[in-house]
Amino acid sequence: MAIASSRISVDHLDAARVSLRACSLCPRACGVDRTRSRHGAFCRLDATAHVYRELLSVGEEAEISPTWLIDLGGCSMRCLYCSEWAHVARPTAGLTLPLEPAWFVEKLRRRRAQGARTVSFVGGDPTVSLVGVLEALAQVPDDVWLPVVWNCNGWMSDLARALLAPVVSKWLIDLKFGNPACATRIAGVDGELDAREVSKTLEFARSRGLMLRHLALPGHLDCCTRPVMERLRRDFPDVPRNVMAHYLPFGPAQSHLLPHAPELSRLLDRDEQVSLVSLVSPPTQIL
Ligand code: SF4
Repeated sequence: MAIASSRISVDHLDAARVSLRACSLCPRACGVDRTRSRHGAFCRLDATAHVYRELLSVGEEAEISPTWLIDLGGCSMRCLYCSEWAHVARPTAGLTLPLEPAWFVEKLRRRRAQGARTVSFVGGDPTVSLVGVLEALAQVPDDVWLPVVWNCNGWMSDLARALLAPVVSKWLIDLKFGNPACATRIAGVDGELDAREVSKTLEFARSRGLMLRHLALPGHLDCCTRPVMERLRRDFPDVPRNVMAHYLPFGPAQSHLLPHAPELSRLLDRDEQVSLVSLVSPPTQIL
C-alpha cells in the first residue's frame, strides 16, 4: 500500500516492521518474532495494535486539548495499581478493535471536524504498539494530519525512540518512581534499567516537545514524589508538568491481600495531601 504521509518514508516503515521480528522496542528485549505470534512477548501482543477505547477529550493539558485520545492495549510494565489492568494483562480480550489504517484515517477526519487539535496515543503504554501506530499514521494525508502526543512511561529502547521521532510532536511522559527499588517492587521492572532508559527518553524528548506527569502514590511521597519533584526543578525547570493527586487503587491494589505493597490499597491521607502541596511548586499544576 502506498504511503500517504510525507512524514513517514517507506524505509522508515520497513525498519519498523523488521523490528518486530526480534522485538526490542522496550527494555524487556523479549527478542520474539511478533510478526508470527505473540507467544513469548511480555506485552502479549503480536504485530497488531488493539484499540480498547477512543474519545474526544477536553480533560488533558490545555496545550494538547481537545485531543483524540486512543487507548491501546498492552504495556511493558505491570504497575500494581494500574487503572487499565484488564487491558494491560489481556490486551486482545474483550471489545477491542484492531488499529486499521482505513478506520484510523476516517475517524481522524471526523474527530478533526469535532474539534480535535491533537491525537494522543496512550494505554497501557503505546510504545509496545508503535509499529501498528506507524502503519496507521503512514496513511494520513498531510492535510488531515494532527500533531501526535505520545503519552507513555518513557521506558523504551533507542530503536523505539528513533522510530517515533519523525511523527511525535509531544512526548507526554509519566514519571512514576523516584528510585529503582520502588520501580522494581511496584512495576515489576529492573529498577536500574528503568531509571536509565527513562532518563534517556527525557533527554531525547527535551528538545522535541516534552511534557511531564507524576501520579502521587500513597506512602511514596518521600521516596518517589519528593525526588521526582526535585529532579524536575533541577533538570527540567521550564518543562510543563502536572502532578496528579487523585490516586485510586485499581488492579491488584484493589485487593487488601497485596503483601508486598499494602500501602497502595488506600487513598492519599489528609497529611499526604497537605505535604503534596508543599512538595510541588509553580509552574506545577495539581490535577
Ligand atoms: S514491546 Fe517490549 S514487552 Fe513487547 S515483545 Fe517487544 S520487548 Fe517484549
